Amino acid sequence: MVSVKEIIGTMRAPSPEDVAFVEKAYAYAKKAHEGQTRYSGEPYFIHPAATAKILAEYGMDATTIAAGLLHDAIEDARVSREEMEREFGKELLFIVDGVTKLGTHKYRGAERHAESLRRLLVATASDIRVLIVKLADRFHNMQTLEHVPEHKRHRIALETVEIYAPIADRLGMGRMKSALEDLAFPFIDPDAAVHAAEVRKLKTKETETGLAKVRKELGRELAKKGLPGFRTDIRMKGLWSLHQKLRRKQDDISLIHDIAALRIIVSSIEDCYTALGAVHALYKPLPGEFKDYIAFPKPNGYQSLHTTVVTPEAGIVEVQIRTEEMHRHAMFGIASHMSYKQLGKSIEKLDKETQKSRFSALSFSWRSLIPSLMRVAKRDEEMRPGTKIPPWLAELAEAHAGSAGSEEFVEGLKEDFFSHRVFVFTPQGDVIDLPATSTPIDFAYAIHSDLGDHLQGAKVNDKLVAFDTPLNNGDIVEIMRRDSAHPSAKWLDIVRTSLARRHIKTALGMTEQTKPRRRARQTRKARRA
Ligand code: MN
Repeated sequence: MVSVKEIIGTMRAPSPEDVAFVEKAYAYAKKAHEGQTRYSGEPYFIHPAATAKILAEYGMDATTIAAGLLHDAIEDARVSREEMEREFGKELLFIVDGVTKLGTHKYRGAERHAESLRRLLVATASDIRVLIVKLADRFHNMQTLEHVPEHKRHRIALETVEIYAPIADRLGMGRMKSALEDLAFPFIDPDAAVHAAEVRKLKTKETETGLAKVRKELGRELAKKGLPGFRTDIRMKGLWSLHQKLRRKQDDISLIHDIAALRIIVSSIEDCYTALGAVHALYKPLPGEFKDYIAFPKPNGYQSLHTTVVTPEAGIVEVQIRTEEMHRHAMFGIASHMSYKQLGKSIEKLDKETQKSRFSALSFSWRSLIPSLMRVAKRDEEMRPGTKIPPWLAELAEAHAGSAGSEEFVEGLKEDFFSHRVFVFTPQGDVIDLPATSTPIDFAYAIHSDLGDHLQGAKVNDKLVAFDTPLNNGDIVEIMRRDSAHPSAKWLDIVRTSLARRHIKTALGMTEQTKPRRRARQTRKARRA
């Protein structure tokens, strides 16, 4: 069992108050779960203690770690909410409440599950730490999944790759994402899991010695360019993500170039491009394989340069170049910004970034967080870090708080939340973040409902386009507005976001439950297929 010493030893620079708070929560939760056992027959408290340790590893604050210790205490150990608030405060109770599943009477089965999820996400919109505790909880549960009764394992594993891994991805927690997927994989498709592991092993042997040579050669070249302060590591592709790729490429291993990738970690953005120059000078890059995620970060904030080159020593190799900070972000995501000390510093830094690169998607997603970050930072002495509301999450919670059926909720969630995103620009250079295949109508509604309701025409990159034109990353979209223009029912077949759909229905005087929504979804599915 993880001891309280281990948890505290993992925390980053805890104050004496932090230590006392975590110690109290540990003793309290241990007592509350006394006599309870897990499926494995071990004491139940093993689970909350392990959850807290994971949270400490992710650099979370004392409140979040204590919430990890107490996260099952209301549901499974029958501690009352009043008592928890009295002993540990409102903030902790809020987090535990958000993580707690629903009471038994009102909902059943799948509906119950969707309700729990909705509740989790709505709570997350006010405090992102709710979601991080939930991810740590799930992470430990996945490590011990073999003890769960067989008929439950498959469902839990599927839910993990379909819902929790994408959430971790959206929060930029790359390490958590692939760990969750790889823990779930053997329970979803045991044969494929064995196959992927074999493929990876084979390829690793093949490239390992080669990559060591490439690393050496590159080291010399980088030193020549005056970049002595770099380090490299080799990252192996996760098994689940390898499996997805194998399926896309009809199991042709020779088409997969990133099973092993060489990472170069340097100290500044400038050095990233210098290193890229060195790599391309040494090895011929494959055309069309270069991606600049520094200038165009992924929607979750991921930044790096990716290029695929042909090396005499190791064949075709993917090279990823990034700074230490980008590296930390890619591992821990939003959690890497959570400590109190970093908070003030990162606001300053992000402010600078915002001024520097007008077209940076990263600065966009952070820019809209800055007011609440500031509020949190300025809160007085009892302040605990971490109350950040990602706008997509707040939007999501808002957009779905009123939606009727559970099935509809989960569907909407999958569509808006888990599908890929595109970044498009207003003529003023503001970035709008939309699901892939969004149209100018979605764009107009994302800016303002009034703009959508009076959409007359749209220009993409200065050319007039039809309303069903899918938007691409980097498009500049200009909306023309006219008072006499109004939505048409046809738009329901075209739009991609539930926000736009909802506004169109309202404008048309339709209710949520009418048919076009379903038809719209089917049409889109058919189109994609
Ligand atoms: Mn739990």
